[in-house]
Amino acid sequence: MLGRKERDQLELFITGSLRQLVPDDHILARVDRVLDLSWLRDEVADLYCTDNGRPGIDPEVAVRLMLAGFLLGIIHDRRLLREAQVNLAIRWFVGYGLHEVLPDHSSLTRIRQRWGAERFRNIFKRTVKACIAAKIAAGEIVHIDASLIRANVSWDALAVRHIADVEAADLSEFEWKDRQSGKHKKICTTDPDATMATSSRNRRLEPAYKQHTAVDDLAGVVLDVEVATGEENEGMAIEARLDAIAATTGVDIKTATMDAGYAYAKVFRALEDRKIEAIVPAKTEQLPGKVIPTRRFKLDAKHNLVRCPTGKILRPKGKLQRGSFQHFHASSKDCRACPLRSRCVSLSRHARVVVFNINHPSLLRARRKRLRWGKNEHNLYRRHRWRVEGIHGEAKSWHGLARAIRRGKDNMRIQAFLTAAAINLKRLAAVLFAILLMLAARVDDRLHHQRIASA
Ligand code: SF4
Repeated sequence: MLGRKERDQLELFITGSLRQLVPDDHILARVDRVLDLSWLRDEVADLYCTDNGRPGIDPEVAVRLMLAGFLLGIIHDRRLLREAQVNLAIRWFVGYGLHEVLPDHSSLTRIRQRWGAERFRNIFKRTVKACIAAKIAAGEIVHIDASLIRANVSWDALAVRHIADVEAADLSEFEWKDRQSGKHKKICTTDPDATMATSSRNRRLEPAYKQHTAVDDLAGVVLDVEVATGEENEGMAIEARLDAIAATTGVDIKTATMDAGYAYAKVFRALEDRKIEAIVPAKTEQLPGKVIPTRRFKLDAKHNLVRCPTGKILRPKGKLQRGSFQHFHASSKDCRACPLRSRCVSLSRHARVVVFNINHPSLLRARRKRLRWGKNEHNLYRRHRWRVEGIHGEAKSWHGLARAIRRGKDNMRIQAFLTAAAINLKRLAAVLFAILLMLAARVDDRLHHQRIASA
């Protein structure tokens, strides 16, 4: 029979808690079981006056509101507070009754400005420690990758500036507009922290930030996130990230996997120094064209000299470039008499010059090791792809990380920390929920057997 629902509603009276109206498997109900913010009040107490002014929003309420937004994918404060007006689960999660007035959305902005990004990093770090305590993260096998996040900048806000103007304005990190002529840079006028970058050669440059993410191998817990400008090279950040991961987890990393974007001599050296096994596909050098390639020159790191294919010695000349690149010059006397001269030395030079990174021996060892990769290494690298790239996909698809919500690097960092904290809390809550379901099933079984026995 066709049913009919009377849509006139009686005035709402409820007794008991809003919790009774929120399903047990709702994401906020699950996360509430594992979320402990009892330490937060002390953490931020120094930012508030103790004996003067209007009482501010409870810090726990503010963080719960923000986390609820990231967990439900409602990342904009205005939308979140509008949703919270009518969403019983959010009201219950932040501890507000049906008739209580929720904070204004602008309060969340002021709280972010007052606390700064490092307090939000601490919130994220607590979730990592909780995951380690629950044994769903070990911190020994770590997958590291970077992903671009589109800055909150419109195309109209991009401007092309002459290098001289940009340097005068001290805007040193902006993308080169014209790499050939080297005369112009494209800058974001509304968010100077964002820079032009692209994730592949076939895609156009866009204003972006770059998030470096480290994910644990066991259950995909995010161990570390940090945000840099879009154009920052992956290798530049790695040492600081390795140290930060070890400091957060309190465990020495045994194995780190990264993609070819990290295959720099500096990265291999950093991993060697920390005794971390590197699962990184070291790039092979470009195939030779007409010119004899640098790989045919052998670096003797012990004596700081290079031997060319005919056994002649090239010696270091000048200072280190950019902190790690050394030029080695052949003798013009040797090259003049050499039968390989036409393939080795350009017409404008008298002798061959090669450039080596001071960490080049580490790169050579990594290349040799790459050729010996066994089943275990290939398996780990396969896991790298779905572990860390999966986290980036999850963060962008479900938690709004595809685009920056606000402008400025600090705001972007806060977004990254809260997104990572939300993902970790989901992992933690899923484990606890699975345990609860298992226990409930066991209790049901026992009752069932007791009933059969007593019948
Ligand atoms: S041209 Fe000079 S650097 Fe090149 S192989 Fe001959 S001697 Fe060595």
